[in-house]
Amino acid sequence: IAWNNTPLRNPNNKIIGTISIGEDITDKLKVDKIKGEFISIVSHELRTPLSSIRGALGLLASGVLDEKPDTAKHMLNIAVADTERLVRLVNDILDLERLESSRITLNRHWYDVTELCEQALKTMQTLTTDHQIQIVSNVPSLQIWCDRDRLVQTIVNLLSNAIKFSPPHSEVRFDVYSTTQDILFKISDQGRGIPENSLESVFERFHQVDASDSRQKGGTGLGLAICRSIIQQHGGKIWAESVLSQGSTFSFTIPHHLG
Ligand code: ADP
Repeated sequence: IAWNNTPLRNPNNKIIGTISIGEDITDKLKVDKIKGEFISIVSHELRTPLSSIRGALGLLASGVLDEKPDTAKHMLNIAVADTERLVRLVNDILDLERLESSRITLNRHWYDVTELCEQALKTMQTLTTDHQIQIVSNVPSLQIWCDRDRLVQTIVNLLSNAIKFSPPHSEVRFDVYSTTQDILFKISDQGRGIPENSLESVFERFHQVDASDSRQKGGTGLGLAICRSIIQQHGGKIWAESVLSQGSTFSFTIPHHLG
């Protein structure tokens, strides 16, 4: 609360008291925080691909297209990749905003876990072939009470990360278990691992362990923040464990529906 004090005077202009008006500035602080985050997103996340696109288009405009067609093609590819990254970034920012402001309610029904996981695995086919990764999965037939699209989105995000951060010819494991309280999902890779001090912060928006991760791996730094938001809305938990240069395991739970 911000207080505004004004002296209270009698007809002879003598101060006889103070009028204090308190203003609840919680909402104002929230707006300031959102504004600050927005400026930081624009300055760090959007400016880099935009500068790169401007650079590539500038070179093309200066005549490189006729003189050096190979260089021109390379420049065009950079501009396309950065534009795609910008589109992904804007979509992810909007998705996270919708999830966190709770403007989206989950569309929950009963689903078969096996069928839902198969849908997620199908989406991964191109990425696994490109990265020469084998996914070994063990998913029991269970019923789950969830928002199907949102759960598939979470699994796809975690599997994509596992593949992106793994060396070629390695294995990614995808296991589902039923425990007393929840259904437990585990996605493990044999990749570079995550330092201990980043195991929690990787779930924060725009946290990337290596500054080059977003450019090299095409990520937006929002995937895990989106996963966390989805799992929390389901009443579950999500966490990461890792041994450096041996691999990482991302786990999440979805409670059994109790009526
Ligand atoms: P990104 O779009 O960068 O993948 P995420 O929110 O999905 O964004 O992940 C945030 C960061 O966490 C990544 O940039 C990477 O540094 C780290 N990370 C996520 N998954 C893994 C993994 N399986 N192995 C190693 N590092 C990972």
